[in-house]
Amino acid sequence: MKIGGFQKFSLIDYPGKISCIIFTQGCNFRCPWCYNPELVYPEFFVTPLKEEVIFEFLKRRRGKIEAVVITGGEPTIQPDLAEFIEKIKKMNYLVKLDTNGSNPPILKELIKNKLVDYIAMDIKAPPQKYFLLIGKDIDLSLIFESIKVIENSSIEYEFRTTFVPFLLSEDDILKIKKMVKDKGRHRIQRFYTNEYPKHK
Ligand code: SF4
Repeated sequence: MKIGGFQKFSLIDYPGKISCIIFTQGCNFRCPWCYNPELVYPEFFVTPLKEEVIFEFLKRRRGKIEAVVITGGEPTIQPDLAEFIEKIKKMNYLVKLDTNGSNPPILKELIKNKLVDYIAMDIKAPPQKYFLLIGKDIDLSLIFESIKVIENSSIEYEFRTTFVPFLLSEDDILKIKKMVKDKGRHRIQRFYTNEYPKHK
């Protein structure tokens, strides 16, 4: 796993749980408004943190921290994500995955193997504007497939959209809400300009 950052404590990133956050390096999207460029553009990458450092921390904090949030960048592009999570699950932590929804087969696999307890997926835009918000073309069926995989699972989940004021309108938000079954599971995130890191 390429780990570009680690936050030892959070009360807000796993709903109702005390968590720590692992930030993976690398992303397959190029959202022009991204405020995690350090985790997206290889030229900004720092030397990755060793996995052992994280596992050592988790060993020491057992009983104090309840959950591990894996975010990015985009965690599902890491080839050894499942193996990494397996090790965390063996230590009895809850695991939340933040994803941009571009990789439904990996989501399916993680859910099937009970490796994730919570998934938060970003829905960046209504279909017509997706390319604009993620800075590239994408096969939108992947996004819809991820939404379906998550909705049909029995784990906790949420969908979220960062309201980027100069790229999205209120009408776009209404269109995004139509992409999910349960509007109550979709939330809007504030757009931050100078804060790092605030989202996946
Ligand atoms: S998916 Fe997230 S991390 Fe990747 S470019 Fe977009 S905002 Fe940045």
